[in-house]
Amino acid sequence: MAGSPQKRPTTTFEQSLAHQRLVRPGPAGRATSESIPTEQCELDSRSAEMNTSSATMTTFALGRGPAPLQHRAWYRPMVVALVLAGCGTSSPPSSPTPTPTPVAVCGNARVEAGEECDDGNAVNADACLVTCQKPVSWVPGDVHVHSTGCGGYISPEALKARLMAQGLKVGAALVWGEGYADDELFFTGRDHPVSTPDFILHYDMEVSHFAAARAGHLVLLGLDSLRFSDDVFERPGSNVAVVDWARRQPRAVVGMAHGEYWPGDGSFPVPPGGCCTPWESVVHMARGRLDFLSLERVPSGEGAIDAGSFRLWKATQNAGFRVAIAGGSDLGCLTRVMSDDTPRTDVIVDGTLTYDSWLQAIKAGRTALASGFGRHVNLRVAGGRLGDEVRLPAPQDVSVTLETPGRCRPPSKCWSTARWPRAPLSTPAPS
Ligand SMILES: [Zn+2]
Repeated sequence: MAGSPQKRPTTTFEQSLAHQRLVRPGPAGRATSESIPTEQCELDSRSAEMNTSSATMTTFALGRGPAPLQHRAWYRPMVVALVLAGCGTSSPPSSPTPTPTPVAVCGNARVEAGEECDDGNAVNADACLVTCQKPVSWVPGDVHVHSTGCGGYISPEALKARLMAQGLKVGAALVWGEGYADDELFFTGRDHPVSTPDFILHYDMEVSHFAAARAGHLVLLGLDSLRFSDDVFERPGSNVAVVDWARRQPRAVVGMAHGEYWPGDGSFPVPPGGCCTPWESVVHMARGRLDFLSLERVPSGEGAIDAGSFRLWKATQNAGFRVAIAGGSDLGCLTRVMSDDTPRTDVIVDGTLTYDSWLQAIKAGRTALASGFGRHVNLRVAGGRLGDEVRLPAPQDVSVTLETPGRCRPPSKCWSTARWPRAPLSTPAPS
């Protein structure tokens, strides 16, 4: 969800960790404390630079585990008190501030203000954590696959089989310039008939190999139509009008693909044009029209995000634009064989999983970028969930709840140790 630009303070999570203190809630909700040596917290530098005072709390995958989070039997929530010195804002809050969970009453079997649940026990393996919050479950999906293009064809049935083999529950199959006439027939604005309660395949659009795509490839999800002009191959000459066309459709979610082509050295891509670099993304962000940025490839061994995507996305967050981060495979083009290194998007979906609820969660920023099966640290800041916004009227302490799958001893074992890519990308031409 894009918003108006706001200047933000720059205290980083890394700085905040210097003041941290681990607090473990006891069985009856009574907190106990222990000190953690800061040097044990090996935060990936990419995570460490997340601003926290008014953060869009999109997280990264933290390495690969043997199973997706939602298959884990229990979670180990930790409550970390952070001192966000200097994190106040000069303007009064314009929206309700989430109220910190009153820890003292958690565990009395009564759901009270600030609690999502309270079952009165000290069991984390059930549907109510000892923090009186409900454990989240992540829905793994792919925002970017293709049936036709790049010299191949993957039928809807085969797409479903290949995505389900990776544990994915949602696939956005994108019609694009190559094979447009064939794949357009799959587009109905509804889930494809191969979809089941366990898996959704839905055809939408990537604006690629059209005249509009000279400065980057849009990923448009939840469309009612693919016809953004009377001649999509020739008009318009930029994506700006296409984004406006998509935004007039009530369900549409607007993303931009191929963040991995953004320079990872801090420079701005010059000249614009050519294939794939999401040069135009800054325009869509500034106009408040971009919901997510996706990446489709990460150099092997470099973790869940490449340097270019991270720089672009981080700058976006720091400038006050709420743009979710997402991962896709570009199956059929950049990815021929899906593996544990293939980017994906894990999403916290509220209620029943449908394509629309999945899209709304992406729009709300409840996404985590992952490579293969991801393990995620689920953050709650002052009771706010991933994707919520926390506004502090003045410097103050806030509580941060970390839910991690399984045990993390020491807690730093739950953090990613991925490093920056050091070599430029060398990839085949994507769609
Ligand atoms: Zn593509």
